[in-house]
Amino acid sequence: MARQDLASLIRNIPDFPIPGIQFKDITTLIGNGPAFSEVIDRLHERYRDQQIDAVVGIESRGFIFSAPLAYRLGVGLVPIRKPGKLPAATYQIEYQLEYGTNKLEIHRDAFQPGARVLVIDDLLATGGTIAAACDLIGMAGGQVAELAFVIELTFLNGRERLRNHNIFSLIQF
Ligand code: IMP
Repeated sequence: MARQDLASLIRNIPDFPIPGIQFKDITTLIGNGPAFSEVIDRLHERYRDQQIDAVVGIESRGFIFSAPLAYRLGVGLVPIRKPGKLPAATYQIEYQLEYGTNKLEIHRDAFQPGARVLVIDDLLATGGTIAAACDLIGMAGGQVAELAFVIELTFLNGRERLRNHNIFSLIQF
């Protein structure tokens, strides 16, 4: 399936969740079997020979893509979750949103020391979420090999904020 075709399966929802936001809806992409397979196949192709030790997925849409990719790569999946969801000892980080703040957590014992970690989320916007995730991964002793996204909103310049990292995205708007 061509890159163009994957992009055409992403639905734009105006004014969601608040007026003025053009929300990129991935349900129309993952609801299409060949398209969903194509997304995971392409990510697998890119990372199969990169000695990745673990895939990190960010709650909750990040889990949709990180779980099948970890399975294909044959490596463990480490969830980064909203506060109060992970049962064992965690590290927590608080980060700024456009309005207010958000928190994320990771299990303290998520990685072997120095593990090469691939981080997956559905979408890169300003980069705030993934930057916080990278800080958490560092606290837990992981090394970020690359950040991968299904969608990148290039006009928000998330890459600029994340310039210390390798970044990959399948579809750009
Ligand atoms: P950032 O922190 O500004 O880069 O925002 C990225 C986070 O917000 C990701 O975890 C996305 O799941 C979510 N997000 C922001 N905008 C959208 C959108 O248009 N569609 C789906 N998720 C979005």
